[in-house]
Amino acid sequence: MGNLREVTQTPALVIGSIVDLAGVARAKVVPANRVDAFVSSGMGASPSWNVFCADDALAFTENYSVVGDLRLRISESDLRDVGDGVSWAPATLHELDGSVSPVCSREALRRTTSVLASNDLEALVGREIEFTLFGGVPDEQWSAYGLGAALAQESFIRELFANAQRAQLNIEQFHAEYGPGQFEISLAPASPVESADNVILARILIGRTARAHGMTVSFSPMPTVGSSGNGAHQHFSLTRAGVPIFSGGRQAYGMTDDGAGALGGLVAHLGDLTAVLASSPLSGMRLQPNMWSGAFITWGQENREAAVRFCAESSGNPHGANVEVKVMDGSANPYLATAAILAAAHAGIVNQTPLPREVTVNPSTLTESARGERVPTDMGEILQRLRASGVARSSLGDSIIEALVAVKELEHSRCAGLDASAVVERLRYAWSV
Ligand code: GLU
Ligand code: MG
Repeated sequence: MGNLREVTQTPALVIGSIVDLAGVARAKVVPANRVDAFVSSGMGASPSWNVFCADDALAFTENYSVVGDLRLRISESDLRDVGDGVSWAPATLHELDGSVSPVCSREALRRTTSVLASNDLEALVGREIEFTLFGGVPDEQWSAYGLGAALAQESFIRELFANAQRAQLNIEQFHAEYGPGQFEISLAPASPVESADNVILARILIGRTARAHGMTVSFSPMPTVGSSGNGAHQHFSLTRAGVPIFSGGRQAYGMTDDGAGALGGLVAHLGDLTAVLASSPLSGMRLQPNMWSGAFITWGQENREAAVRFCAESSGNPHGANVEVKVMDGSANPYLATAAILAAAHAGIVNQTPLPREVTVNPSTLTESARGERVPTDMGEILQRLRASGVARSSLGDSIIEALVAVKELEHSRCAGLDASAVVERLRYAWSV
């Protein structure tokens, strides 16, 4: 970034963005010679940015309306070269007096990591990002996980890897997913905030590369009616005083007591956290049995139908034992989702929550009492459980919950009278950048 401030004929661009409560990234752009202002005073944004729905409707509340002003601030050290003279950095949201806004989701995650650190706990977070490319491989030529699809998109894949390398994003692998046009990348484990930043960086790079190849990309939980959903699975591992808690212990699959508590806490609280994991008007279409989206709140070693998939230590897991939360989809704000997941695991460690019985088969084949409850898809229930959840309130804070509830209520009422295809079309590109 050495020559960022040079004023040239065609100025380089600096972009800073936040993720709002509908999971949509919203941005400000300056010429590179204004980067200092972006770092110090910040770029203006109305408080209404906090109450935009995925379709841009405004869910005004008492505290978030047309009056007042906020600032997006970036750090120069976070800037990444995303190509063609464009640099991007994740922004934090500040009040005019310079303090960090209580509605800043990046700050909520940073705060959660500090709470963990006060108990000597440190998390690493990895991601699987699924997306659908339109305008690429024709549907009739599609095979799930197909070699043909990978070869057909080889120039896109090659350019994406090159762009990621330049932007210092560690993409570990790429594959064709199940549904037509659907692909997936995995992002290497990183600190929680950096990992959430990386979700947006990855979307920028996928979006820019797709455009350069004449394609559009959707991260929507349901990109076309009746298709395979796009998940945004989160993996995490935890160490306590530097020692892994999901391996090396005497509980199931080598978990330590802390590890079992973390998993127990996660399963116990997961249903209360759906509002930040998968609550767009499309999320319920994806969270159905046999879609590998983890529709049942239970856990199992390498169980792809469980909301929580445990991945035990093995030679096939180079990053060591970890836990995957499958519920999360592309509409989730990655900062808030990660904050809530880590807070649930932390609560389980502190309270030594017992590990529930493992489900070792497809939960759909079991009786209702044996397979675990379904992840809620009814918005009334999702918001009622959010409001009542101590884990959510302590990790997200009152301001975020106020805005989130308003956004989700309006989002759902606006889609309530529409048929599925209208909602799918309306929101197809809401989470694309
Ligand atoms: N597409 C599935 C989802 O919506 C996930 C498939 C997989 O296990 O990778 O979560
Ligand atoms: Mg996948």
